[in-house]
Formats: sequence, structure tokens, C-alpha cells
Amino acid sequence: MTQRPAGSVYLDYNATALVRPEAAAAIAHALDVGGNPSSVHAAGRAARALVEQARADVAALVAAPASTVVFTSGGTEANALALESAIAAGAKRLLISAVEHDSIQETTHASGVAFEEIPVDRSGRADLTWLAERLARWDAADGKPFVALMLANNETGVIQPVAEAAELVHAADGWLHVDAVQAAGKIAVDSRALGADTLAISAHKIGGPQGVGALTFGPRAVLSRRQHGGGQERGRRGGTENVPGISGFGAAAKVSRQALEQPADVEEKQAWRDAAARRLKAAGAVVIGEAAPRLPNTLCVATLGFASDTQVMALDLAGVMVSAGAACSSGKVKQSPVLAAMGQGDLAACGLRVSGGWKTVESDWARFVDAWSEAHHRHAARRAPAATGVA
Ligand code: PLP
Repeated sequence: MTQRPAGSVYLDYNATALVRPEAAAAIAHALDVGGNPSSVHAAGRAARALVEQARADVAALVAAPASTVVFTSGGTEANALALESAIAAGAKRLLISAVEHDSIQETTHASGVAFEEIPVDRSGRADLTWLAERLARWDAADGKPFVALMLANNETGVIQPVAEAAELVHAADGWLHVDAVQAAGKIAVDSRALGADTLAISAHKIGGPQGVGALTFGPRAVLSRRQHGGGQERGRRGGTENVPGISGFGAAAKVSRQALEQPADVEEKQAWRDAAARRLKAAGAVVIGEAAPRLPNTLCVATLGFASDTQVMALDLAGVMVSAGAACSSGKVKQSPVLAAMGQGDLAACGLRVSGGWKTVESDWARFVDAWSEAHHRHAARRAPAATGVA
């Protein structure tokens, strides 16, 4: 039974996508099959076949060989596996973009290893001139350079110049990790063409279940053993595989790839997003990252003086589910670190993320704009009592 109120609008796919029916069916099928993939009997072999089919489908989504896919508990663990592997391989200084997801930022901070942030410009794109200069004066005592640059940002949808960064990193004999959690399933991702040495993805962002993800790796990356145990995932991550979750991931990856092969659908959905953006801009909102290439499903807007949390709550009351770029803690509106890193100043506390997906229809975006316009109007009236005739 769905927990979403009837008639509500869900535009928060970057937080988690609605589960695709194909994924739900695959999960149910895997539960029905049963069996431990490590068992040699018929049930075990059936479970193993499900895992390996899913591995092939997940690999195909990012154009990687199936043998290079390691299943994890999600995008967070896939990012951690890449970072920890690079450190185990001798990296003593990490370069991470200033707009990386918390799973990269926090794992970096917790690692105790020296790190530096790659700055981004006002549209949220990493400064590759800074990166080139930094790599040019790399100290060999820091081991080989490790660079983390996400493919698309979760808040703004801004797509990073990953292939260009890969050239710089490889010229310095370094390791490029790409968090493709938000990009996969929304744009075509070719891990090899991007030059990613490791690349992370997550099932629940593409219509699969939560709690399962994957790391793919190229020939230059040596992965360390994250969990000791029964030797699963070629010894890299011990523990009986999450067969239902992995099956759901595989099914979601397969339909997501097929959906990307219908460019007309993708363009149509982008046009709905762009039409919504035009109406918000006309009311004074700023589209964050508008000058940069962005994911077709994501709209990040900020309106000066209209706090993120106020917007999210007003929209929720109107039955429209979206995300704040910034979070409210202990009554204080926190700035979005992503928008702050982009130099957006006071707008960093006023961001709103609206993200569509496979089940989104045109009227969802229209409902969002109507609800937002009403909330904005009420907010503006409260802020300017004189204009409403109140002395
Ligand atoms: N990386 C990015 C860019 C994300 O947006 C997220 C989730 O929000 C993650 C990593 C973490 O993925 P998971 O929720 O599967 O751990």
C-alpha cells in the first residue's frame, strides 16, 4: 500500500525514485526463488543466476564489464569502498570537489588523510585550471593523486566535466573516482569513456530498492577488501548477497537503460521542467546552475528571502513533495553547502530542489508551480504588509 496521500505530487526523485514495477516484480521473484547464491544445489544456483543477471544489467547501465561490478549496500558504501581502496593503495592526499555528496565529504574527513577541495564556479562546475595547477605541483610523498569528482550534483543537477578531469588525473598517474549516483539512469553514463577508475551508483535513485548499490572499477584501480567473510563479491565484500535487492537493482537498471534509448521522452520531460523554471523565474526565482549542463529531471531554484524550509513545508501542505537545498536545524536555517560553494551568498539558504522521474507527468510540474506561486504570493504579502493595505 502506498504511503503517499491520494492526489499528491511526488517530485523528489533525487532523494529516492518511486520503485519501478519491474523492480518490485524482480524483488518478489527473488524472494520466491530463495536460495543462497553460494550453495551448490539447485536453489543456490537459481539465486546465483539472479545475482549474475543483475550484475550484467547494472554493468550495462554504465557500459562497464560485468566482472567489474561489486555490489554494496548503496551509493554511500560504494563511495567509501573507492576512497578506502585508494588510501590502502597509498594515497596520502585526497582532492575532492567542493560539491561532493556527504558520503564523499564525510568519509574523507573521517579518514584522517590530508585533503583539499577543488573549487567550483558560480554555475557549480569544478575549476579544472585549479586542478591542473595542483596536480602539476604534486608532491610524490603524497602518493599517487586521488581525485573525487561527481558526475551530476544531487542538489543542482549540474553535470561535471568528468572526462576532461580524467585526462588531467591520468596524466598525473592518479585515480579518478566518479560518484554517478544521481547521473545513472537520468543521462547516458559510459564509465570507460568518462575515464572513471572507480564509479559509484545506487539502486534507489533509478527506481530500484533502497539499501543496494554498486562500485565498478577499471584496470588502474585496486580495490581493497571492505568486509571479511565468506569471500562473496570476489572476496571484496563478504556476506551473503542481498539477492532480492540486487535483483530489483538489475531490473531497474535494465528499464532505466531502455528508457534512455527513447530520447523523445527524455526531452519531453525536460521541457516540462524548463516550462516550470520559466514561470518561477518570472516570479523572481533564480535557477541555480542554469548556465551549466544539467540533469534533465532536476530544477534547483532559489528565491531571496523565501527560506528553503518555509517553501518545502508550504508545498507539503499543498500535497507537493520536494526537497530543501538547505535544512533547518534547531530553528536555524542552515545554508546549503553546495550553493554556498557556488558563491550564491544569501540564496544558499533559499534553495529548493524539484526532481521528476519515470512516473512524473506534465500536470505534476504544473501543480508544483501553482502551489509554489500561491505560497510565494502569501509569503511576499506577509513580508510587505504596507503593500497589502495594512498600516
Ligand atoms: N551520492 C550522491 C550524489 C547521492 O545523491 C547520494 C544519495 O543521496 C549518495 C551518494 C548516497 O547513496 P545511498 O543513499 O544509496 O547511500
